[in-house]
Amino acid sequence: MKLNYKVIAIGIVLALALVAVYQKGINDGQTGNVMTLVPIAEAKISGEQATSAAKKHSPVGIVPDRDIYFPGTEPLDPNEMRITALGTGQPSVRPKQAAACFLVELGNGDKFLFDIGSGSHERIAAQKIPYDYIDKVFIGHLHVDHFGDLASFWLGGTVMNRLTPLRIWGPDGTEEKYGTKYMLERLQEAYTWDIATRAGFVDFRGGVLEINEFDHRGVNKVIYDDNGVVIRSIPAIHAIDGSVSYILEWNGFKFVYGSDTAPNSWLTKYGKDADFVVHECFLPPTLMITKQGFTPAEALTVSTIAHTSPEQFGKVMSEVKPRHAVGYHFYNDFDTQPEVLQRIRKTYDGPLSLAMDYMVWNVTKDDIKVRMAAKDEEVWPSPALKEKQAPDQSKMVPMSDWNKSGWLEYPEVLNPIWEEVNKKYGTDLKPKL
Ligand SMILES: [Zn+2]
Ligand SMILES: [Zn+2]
Repeated sequence: MKLNYKVIAIGIVLALALVAVYQKGINDGQTGNVMTLVPIAEAKISGEQATSAAKKHSPVGIVPDRDIYFPGTEPLDPNEMRITALGTGQPSVRPKQAAACFLVELGNGDKFLFDIGSGSHERIAAQKIPYDYIDKVFIGHLHVDHFGDLASFWLGGTVMNRLTPLRIWGPDGTEEKYGTKYMLERLQEAYTWDIATRAGFVDFRGGVLEINEFDHRGVNKVIYDDNGVVIRSIPAIHAIDGSVSYILEWNGFKFVYGSDTAPNSWLTKYGKDADFVVHECFLPPTLMITKQGFTPAEALTVSTIAHTSPEQFGKVMSEVKPRHAVGYHFYNDFDTQPEVLQRIRKTYDGPLSLAMDYMVWNVTKDDIKVRMAAKDEEVWPSPALKEKQAPDQSKMVPMSDWNKSGWLEYPEVLNPIWEEVNKKYGTDLKPKL
């Protein structure tokens, strides 16, 4: 077969040029040690640097820094904050992107979740943080993509290792039925069977929900003030009344979390000059029509009125002027990111990340470092840190004699298992069905 080498050569040159343009594009305007994609991070240790590192550490030394964050392996400096994107997508979750969830960890030890959208629980677990330490959740509004994994996190965490109540903050509504309290009370009712099966069997102190509902019309009002951390809420404009954004201040840092909102004057006013602003950046209407099957009328309303399109996101950030802006809430792929970025760059030329799940930012006074986190598929939840108490037997819901009548006891198997545990732990337990 005769190969046309000229055509192949031109093809290779074009491909390399495209990669170079794409990589330049996604890093445009970012500061510090900024990387948004793993391949670029890998490129950083290639060549001379990798050779000298290999000489230093190989064959039995520690692998040199790969510019990837490995959860559970890095202490936070007392003056540092770490923000991790644990959901950046849309209501229809997909393997690559859960729905809205951002974890904020502070150098004083405090940790906060902002939104807890569908699919985000497994990403929270992947951070290897004992649940005892993540007991504060701030919900921006009551769309499923902003609290869809709350029940899973609440009850799943209870069974394994959170022994303190889960504390939840969220806005009220124009009527009682539109508020966070209404939703949470009914969520507890909805899980009546689940709770009945656990409360008498394990230490269930973590099964309590602490509900903190506040006025959605509050403008820069303090809703949380503890341990040097102040969190305020501002109104957002999204679908119907009752959405809010949050502003967290600690140690001279200002972090803003928009949740969902169309561009609004509260965020540009009170978020101004923040260190770090997470704000929705929806898909442009054109991509919603071509890739998601929206009609033009639907796409225009959803992208530019109910939400914030890329050009509008850029306008907001140009007014806020944060040290670092983060856009999320769109399917972030190789064929959508270039268009979203190009549209943002029409109206904003400052520091920017287009978030994807597992992106991590370390914020200090001097630097904002962006990396991707490694994902450990094998991770187990860490055991409870507090000492467990005996289950509250009064909460036990008995099983009927009818249901018990079908049980196959297999004493020749059961008795040795009980004996094994009783002998090893010095107990005399004989559990009953
Ligand atoms: Zn929403
Ligand atoms: Zn949303």
